[in-house]
Amino acid sequence: MAVVIVGNDPASRVYVNNKKKACEYCGFKSEEYALPEETTQEELLALVKKLNEKDDIHGILVQLPLPKHLDDKEVIDNINPLKDVDAFHAVNVGKIMLGEYDFLPCTPSGVMEMLHAYDIKVEGKNCVVIGRSNIVGKPMAMLLLHENGTVTICHSRTKNLKEICRTADILVAAVGKPKFVTADMVKDGAVVIDVGMDRDENGKLCGDVDFENVKDKCSFITPVPGGVGPMTISTLMKNTLKAAKVQNNL
Ligand code: NAP
Repeated sequence: MAVVIVGNDPASRVYVNNKKKACEYCGFKSEEYALPEETTQEELLALVKKLNEKDDIHGILVQLPLPKHLDDKEVIDNINPLKDVDAFHAVNVGKIMLGEYDFLPCTPSGVMEMLHAYDIKVEGKNCVVIGRSNIVGKPMAMLLLHENGTVTICHSRTKNLKEICRTADILVAAVGKPKFVTADMVKDGAVVIDVGMDRDENGKLCGDVDFENVKDKCSFITPVPGGVGPMTISTLMKNTLKAAKVQNNL
């Protein structure tokens, strides 16, 4: 796996280090390409092209967000879809819509794996996803739909958010706002999945859900840290292994 990081964003550095550690743990070779903040679009695209052509690289991960002067969409469009272990390339996104995928985006896929591991059935359940980003909210909703959930996607323009959330048997929060989901938004016995990675008023890592006040209301809840985050990394490793197999016709 090749991990490309541009600039000095401290959060990105932590994510990249965790991904490299996971590669080591799995026995995968990983190569880090740490580029300076002032890297140009042309230089970054040239690196992606080189990595696409390298036979001993099966997965390419460009850590987002990129510095503002770079066009992340163009960069992702230039990754070979077979090496796109984040599943952000339009080809892979389209396959997710059709339900015929090689790779699933790591965070939503990790959430589904967690639901399976705890034998939480999605079929026929009211599923509410708060957030509609391309990397979390939209694919999350699609995966729940593929498993026959009745899915509602909420966003910043949603009216009656609290009422909609209270209908959820499975509530997924991917908002990016600390402790946004409060106890009065959660139905008794709901399954609550917290995707958020936020900082509270003391700078401590927390999720989008007010865990302390919600935990006694629901049947299952994921903590932050320790819930969805590690699942995201394990799915990335799964995607990398799959990419190596596909590229070697195994
Ligand atoms: P994002 O791109 O900023 O999307 C946030 C979404 O929340 C948007 O769709 C936005 O609506 C919606 N939203 C914002 N304010 C809202 C409000 N008041 N009411 C209802 N919806 C609202 O964020 P993201 O990349 O999806 O990430 C979401 C969170 O997950 C972040 O905390 C991020 O750090 C975390 N994350 C964690 C992992 C992991 O591995 N655990 C991976 C990825 C992301 P609009 O579309 O209308 O603006």
